[in-house]
Order: sequence, then C-alpha cells, then structure tokens
Amino acid sequence: MSGKIRRCGEDYTYNLSRSCPICGRPTMIAHPARFSVQDRFGAYRRMAKEGAAK
Ligand SMILES: [Zn+2]
Repeated sequence: MSGKIRRCGEDYTYNLSRSCPICGRPTMIAHPARFSVQDRFGAYRRMAKEGAAK
C-alpha cells in the first residue's frame, strides 16, 4: 500500500482512493520528489542530469 499515495489535482488533498473524497474528481499518483516544487535540490539534480545528457 505504501508508495501508492494519490493526490487530487483540484484541491491538492492526499488520499489513497482513486477518486477525491472531497470533490469527486479522479486523483493522480503523487510522484515522489521529481515533481515537487518544494524539493529544490531535486530540481537542481534534474537540471544537472539533463545538462549532462545533452
Ligand atoms: Zn478533490
């Protein structure tokens, strides 16, 4: 069950169901770190990775 946390793209509520219990919209899998704007180091790491690839 762990690693399957989902998030509603409408109200950004984390839950484990495929549909948001609040607004009823379908939820999407909450990806780790990669898409987190709070993970600044992750962003730098991704930039470095892309820069090295080209
Ligand atoms: Zn929602």
